[in-house]
Amino acid sequence: MENLNRNGKTEYKPKRIGIMGGTFNPVHNGHLIIAEDVREKAGLDRVLFIPSGQPPHKPGSEVADAEHRFEMVKRAVASNPYFEASRIEVDRNGPTYTINTLLELRDAYGDETAIFFIIGADVVPELVTWREYEKVFRLCEFIAVLRPGFDETEFSETIRRLSAEKGARILPVRSRLVDISSTDIRERCRDGRSIKYLVPGPVEEYIVGKSLYK
Ligand code: ATP
Ligand code: MG
Repeated sequence: MENLNRNGKTEYKPKRIGIMGGTFNPVHNGHLIIAEDVREKAGLDRVLFIPSGQPPHKPGSEVADAEHRFEMVKRAVASNPYFEASRIEVDRNGPTYTINTLLELRDAYGDETAIFFIIGADVVPELVTWREYEKVFRLCEFIAVLRPGFDETEFSETIRRLSAEKGARILPVRSRLVDISSTDIRERCRDGRSIKYLVPGPVEEYIVGKSLYK
């Protein structure tokens, strides 16, 4: 759909956008592989990567500064024209909740754009702990993918139950199983082990350059 923006230029309004939300501490190739696979399979026009804002400081917490996490996401998505790094949560003061992000995106894109929130198997059972989750379920659809270590039967059963009992719209998409997690990458950095090929080159350079996760 073509729209005129304030400058009178034509502006492309995506019909189907995907959201990858997370701490991205750091972003890794698992996130990118899943997002690209889902984008293709679900026919998404664009995938927004939205790193969460800074959680309240906990002593001994290993969550890198929001600006570092955003910079890494920016570098990770740079080579994919369908991917975009969004500051929507990083720029919000105070704690960030998906409900606020979705309301902002709805406002920006209008009602004709379908929003697909991409989540891994670990997040499916957590959805009902999200603030105003029933409203969240009305504002977006979910695309859920399996992660290594998660039982497929349980995954399908949780999706079925959330759909039947809570009105969630969750579409399971069969994607590649990628055995990469940020937790493992942080441990590797702490132990001085290699993270090559687990994160994109520019992200690895950033982590080394800023001595993150030491
Ligand atoms: P951590 O170990 O710190 O929790 P993570 O690898 O789970 O990090 P997150 O930033 O927590 O990464 O995840 C953001 C989103 O990406 C979540 O929906 C999560 O389920 C999904 N995700 C992360 N890694 C994978 C993976 N390897 N396969 C499928 N989904 C993934
Ligand atoms: Mg996680």
